[in-house]
Amino acid sequence: MKMTKVLVPTVCPYCGAGCGFYVAAEREKAIGIEYMLDHPVSQGALCAKGNAALEILYHPDRLTSPLKRRGEGWARISWQEALDLVAKGLGQARKKHGPRSLAFLSSSKCSNEDNYLMQKLARLLGSPHIDNCARLCHAPSVVGLNKTLGAAGMTNPIPDIASSRCIFIIGSNLAENHPVISRWVHRAKDRGATVIVADPRATPTSWMADVFLQLEPGTDVALLNGMAHVIINEGMINREYIAQKTKGFEALSRAVKDFTPQRTAEITGIAPEDIVRAARAYATSPASAILYSMGITQHSTGTDNVQSISNLALICGQMGRPGTGVMPLRGQNNVQGACDMGALAEFYPGYKKADDPNTIRYFREAWNAPDLPPGPGLTATEMIEAAGAGEIKAMYIMGEDPANSDPCSEHARRSLESLDFLVVQDIFMTATAQLADVVLPGAVWAEKEGSFTNTERRVQWSHKAIEPPGEARSDRGIICDVARSLGLQFDYPDAASVLAEINRTVPQYAGILRERLEGSSLVWPCPTVDHPGTPILHRSGFNLAEGRASLIPVPFSPAAEAASRNHPFILTTGRVAVHHNAGSMTRRSPSLISREPDLFVEMNREDAAALDVEDGDEVRVATARGETAAYARLTDRLKKGVVFMPFHFPGTNILTTDAIDPEARIPEFKVCACNVFRRD
Ligand code: SF4
Repeated sequence: MKMTKVLVPTVCPYCGAGCGFYVAAEREKAIGIEYMLDHPVSQGALCAKGNAALEILYHPDRLTSPLKRRGEGWARISWQEALDLVAKGLGQARKKHGPRSLAFLSSSKCSNEDNYLMQKLARLLGSPHIDNCARLCHAPSVVGLNKTLGAAGMTNPIPDIASSRCIFIIGSNLAENHPVISRWVHRAKDRGATVIVADPRATPTSWMADVFLQLEPGTDVALLNGMAHVIINEGMINREYIAQKTKGFEALSRAVKDFTPQRTAEITGIAPEDIVRAARAYATSPASAILYSMGITQHSTGTDNVQSISNLALICGQMGRPGTGVMPLRGQNNVQGACDMGALAEFYPGYKKADDPNTIRYFREAWNAPDLPPGPGLTATEMIEAAGAGEIKAMYIMGEDPANSDPCSEHARRSLESLDFLVVQDIFMTATAQLADVVLPGAVWAEKEGSFTNTERRVQWSHKAIEPPGEARSDRGIICDVARSLGLQFDYPDAASVLAEINRTVPQYAGILRERLEGSSLVWPCPTVDHPGTPILHRSGFNLAEGRASLIPVPFSPAAEAASRNHPFILTTGRVAVHHNAGSMTRRSPSLISREPDLFVEMNREDAAALDVEDGDEVRVATARGETAAYARLTDRLKKGVVFMPFHFPGTNILTTDAIDPEARIPEFKVCACNVFRRD
């Protein structure tokens, strides 16, 4: 009998580019990938991670049944016993210590429907403490873009980059981290666009730059203010746009007055003439776009950095047209969607403020729930801190690994250990799952269906190609089971029924019906069922008072830690091409881990020579938090005094600081003082 191969359309489980591909399945087994030539972003391309996505499906480490802790080990248990234990663990903490003793960590790897249900579960149980890992990557984009532009999303679609005439990439190594997006930058460059790259580290992204600004870590605000100074001083502002579409120009103008090229150069370490060159190129091109990523957001000044980016775009009127705009490149495939769905401490679904009584009134009615908690709740890192302090007693963590991904990870681990009850829902036994009382086996993207929202606000439906292994279940199914075991009515037979509720409660998604996503995608806001979606935001104005964007003066503040006698280097962290986030999936992917198997520290050759360290030597990297071993990789990519480590391996976040941005409450992963020692 001839076997029929089916091609199932899915969305890549890794970065926020949201590339699409087909999982080829035969006899309910995934047998390969086929490229999606008509996908609006990837157009048939995938990077190394996307091409390796199937490698994790049948990995022997997959969790295939619920587990409970037994002594130092684990016992396989039935779903019924697992759900009883979860209901008892969460229920007892709630009864004894109140609903605010519960905390929920949702996942930007999971679908919109999974995230919507997770935040609804938290809030129906009376806890405002719900968050997702956007807190660790793009919380300043949510706060900063909402304040300046009135919408927390990328302003223009990815393919639009090809029509830019000047592309300013700051704090993003997209050639490695969003490789398919970098193809659109190459396309623009082939058409003659100027590319400016600002980064403390020379990277494959900076190799395509016409102007490379190698700034000191943590000096982005100074650079952006310096560019604004040049643009105002040389009369390159868009006066008409400023007058009609913005407010606050006079105050901004005063705030950047002192950021002369010379002073900016002293702070940033960039030559004054390069600052001027970059400012002129950006301001005078007919269509300029700014692309940024976690090099901007993972700072104690992350919100300031984002606001400074908006300022630059607004004073030049580089907004609301093809090829312009401000583009935060999200790290995980559904960071945008998890935030849209209200899996955030300060927002209910649709960015309705959690501290606004109207929000509570609205969801009381929508969910038929008499008692909902106002926020803001504790953020992802704050809830772990509160666990350590004994204020949070029980946690439900889905698809996140804070024991690896949080700053000061040893401290995070100890805090999680001090919980009365921890339930972790994941696909592998992560470092966090190792600390749980109960582990629930979830499904990966190809084993469930649902919608995902990529970094350009594009909502796509990912179809189910195969069954989960063993007794693993879809995350939606598990959350519903947990909710029912706690006495809540959670009747969502499929992801489409959840999306139908999202259509009713999230205005940006009102017209994004399940049937409209079949073979297509829609970009929010999409307010009605016949609306075509909104690829370019702010064409006619801003969703702020008087329809005007806010120019917000941003003073320069240095990073929380500076180099010192004991810690003379600045450590900055980031990603490499073949790994993703905490590495729970890519470190189990044979073709990826073989290319980058170990934790390394990149350092300048002169710094290494002074320490008598040679390429490939094992060294110790130490900060005030702890120390870790890594292999030295000597390079000319970094200036003297700066070292770089990827954060995909467990050792890196032992070192990072828990200094946070006061508004977005994101930790400062990008700057901490460290020392490096030879291991003898
Ligand atoms: Fe997946 Fe991102 Fe690579 Fe596209 S660029 S294949 S979404 S990891």
